[in-house]
Order: sequence, then C-alpha cells, then structure tokens
Amino acid sequence: MLNFTYSNHTDIIFGKGTQHTVGQHIKPHAGKILLHYGGGSIKRSGLYEEIIRSLQEAGIEIHELGGVQPNPTLDLVREGITLCRRHAIPFILAVGGGSVIDSAKAIALGAPSSGDVWEYYISKQPADFTPLRVATVLTIPAAGSESSPNSVITCTATKRKLGYGDPQLRPVFSIVNPELFYTLPENQLAYGACDMMSHIFERYFTNTPHTDLTDALCEATLRTIINNARLLRHGGLRQYDPWAELAFSGTIAHNNLLGLGREQDWACHAMEHELSARYDVPHGAGLAVVTPAWMRYIYKNHIPIFLQFAERVMGVTIPPRQPETAILEAIRRLEAYYEEMGLPTTMRQLGIPADHFAEMAAQAVSVRGPIGGLQKLDANDVLAIYNLADR
Ligand code: NAP
Ligand code: FE
Repeated sequence: MLNFTYSNHTDIIFGKGTQHTVGQHIKPHAGKILLHYGGGSIKRSGLYEEIIRSLQEAGIEIHELGGVQPNPTLDLVREGITLCRRHAIPFILAVGGGSVIDSAKAIALGAPSSGDVWEYYISKQPADFTPLRVATVLTIPAAGSESSPNSVITCTATKRKLGYGDPQLRPVFSIVNPELFYTLPENQLAYGACDMMSHIFERYFTNTPHTDLTDALCEATLRTIINNARLLRHGGLRQYDPWAELAFSGTIAHNNLLGLGREQDWACHAMEHELSARYDVPHGAGLAVVTPAWMRYIYKNHIPIFLQFAERVMGVTIPPRQPETAILEAIRRLEAYYEEMGLPTTMRQLGIPADHFAEMAAQAVSVRGPIGGLQKLDANDVLAIYNLADR
C-alpha cells in the first residue's frame, strides 16, 4: 500500500425531501449565490421551484445562470465568471449532474483568479488563492462530482476536453435525494452506471501490492452498481432503494476513498475524453466502448488483477490452468452487461468513424505524455485500442 493523506470535507445530505433544506444549509456560508443549472430538466420536474422557495425562505439573494449542456463548455464558464465578478457572488449552487457541477467548479476557480481559467486545465498548476465555494443538489448519479475535487470542461474552439483537480473544489455540501432521479431517461441511467463503474476500474486495476481493503471495497461497489442499475433497467425508474444504492455507490466511486494507497490508472477516461470532445457523445457511452477494448489490449500483462476481477466481480468460475479463458469470459460478460443496459460497445454503434483516430490518439497523450498507471500507453497503443473498438 502506498502512502496517502485523505480529507474530504463535503457533507452529504442524503434522502427523501432533503432538497427543501438547501436554503438553510447555504445560509451559514453566504447570503448571495449564483444558481447554476442545465438545459431545463429541473424546470420540467418542479425542482427549480422547490429550490427557489427554500432559498427565498432563507433570505438568500439569487443570481441565475442556466443552460449548461452535457460536456460543459468553456464559453458558459466564462459567462459565469463575469456574472460572479460583476455581482461579487461568493457561492455557487449547482443543481444538476456532473456537467452543471463541473461548470460551477470552473466558475468558482476562474472568478477570483487573475489569470485565464483555461490555463489551469492546461497546466494543472495548483491555484494559489481560494476559489469560490460550491454546493450541489444532485439530479443524476453518475460523475461523482458531488464530492470529488475534479472538474472536466470542453473548449469547443480547440476540441479539447480537459480535467482539473484541486481539493478546494470539493463541494461544501451535496444534497442527494434519490427521488429526484425518477425523471431521468433510461439512457442516462446507463451512462451514469457506466461512468461510476469506470471510476472504480481506474482505481481497481493497479500494480500496487497489498491493497486488500480497497480491492474489496471496489469489488463490493462494482457489484452493487451492476445489480441495482439492472433492477432499475428492468423494473422501472420509479424505485427509491435501487436509486439510493446507485447514488451512494456513485459518490464513493469517485470521492477517492476506493483509490487510497493505490497507484491509479485513468487511461480509459483520457481516451474517452477525446471521443466526447470531438463528437460530443455522452461520457458514459464513450467509456462503454473504450473500456472492454482497453481490457483486451492489456490483460495479458496483468493476469492476477484481471483474474480477481473475473472471479469476484463478474462471477466467473476459474477453470484450472486457464486464466486467459476466464478473463476473456469476464470481459465478454462486462460487454454483455453494457449491452443489456442499452449502451453502445463499438465505435460504429457510437457513430464515430475511424477518420481521426490517429489525431485523437496523439491528443490523448499530448497533455502529460503516455497515459495509464497499470500500463503506460503511448499514441500507438491508444490508436491500437481505438482500432480494437472499431467493430
Ligand atoms: P450530465 O451531463 O450532467 O446530464 C446529462 C443529461 O441528463 C442532461 O441532458 C440533463 O438535462 C439530464 N438530466 C439530469 N438530471 C435529470 C433529471 N433528474 N431528470 C431528467 N433529466 C435529467 O450527466 P453526468 O453524467 O452527471 O455528467 C457528465 C459530465 O461529467 C461529463 O462532461 C463528464 O466528462 C463529467 N465527469 C466529471 C467528473 C468529475 O469528477 N468532475 C467525473 C466523471 C465525469 P438538463 O441539462 O436539462 O438538466
Ligand atoms: Fe467519468
């Protein structure tokens, strides 16, 4: 196990009716906020009215910026920064999913900064100032951004989708009420489940020896996601407890508890970001295509951890002296699960042609060099993985 320091200051306010407490939770922190949200789902569901009422009851001055789109853009972030500066707003309330929350974090970083916010995403330099504070009301369990220090933003002009992380960007609190997920479409359930599984894979597949506790936590969380997303897919989306299990899993999948003391990978996320940056595909859909191809490309060099995955997560019985058969069966079962959830598993199903694979592979390794912790991948490896997924 590697050394680590862990601190996570996000309060998770979990359960039925909790959105009505948002005003009273903000009050100790700020009397004025930017209310940030997406393309309209919160207005259609009635959540917007509930949030406004709670904020007004707490006497909080509200400025608004809606219109965050999936794969949030730098342009709207810049608008938010201007608004916060103009009205001296110290606090941002993100009501939405990963896209809204990530956009809020970028505004929080950019507003007090003397430099350009995009520079942080390019350079990964830590901020030498305190960003504005962010809190969230989560409307989709997926990205884990409700208690992660990360933000992922797309610059449409340069077709780059880049992440930035700073512990100061972890939300002050996040309200997670599984009832708010009842209005989600089925495809978002699948994208979300796939993203949270990937957040665990990025931590689980490691070379670090002696990680028994976090191995077991990763495996239990993966099984919980697989089972409960399946219950929702087949039993309907108005079920409280499966959403509750999924939401809790999504939060711990990415608050880094499961990654402590382990070298982490993150190659699949880097490869996926090139797909969603260029083709604006949903992040979870891109991950469903890239992940099985990545597994097939590297598993031979990492038999023990892939065997463990096969047995403990995908329920494969290991035949004597046939580890590769068991691993390939596990990857096949993972792919079949994605398909059962309605996810694409090939570039063709995702609608991505092979035309720009070489360019995207070069971009994927252009920020920090070869990607991946389990196995370093250069541009040729990434190209080979994109080609493997091109079925
Ligand atoms: P999202 O992009 O925030 O939302 C997806 C869609 O779901 C939107 O169209 C949204 O519509 C709709 N939606 C959300 N809640 C809804 C509800 N309750 N009812 C009906 N529709 C609803 O989804 P996400 O998967 O959470 O976030 C994806 C982004 O997060 C990607 O950009 C990804 O790269 C990023 N990400 C970030 C991290 C991190 O740590 N920061 C980690 C992984 C991924 P409206 O816009 O109309 O609300
Ligand atoms: Fe993700």
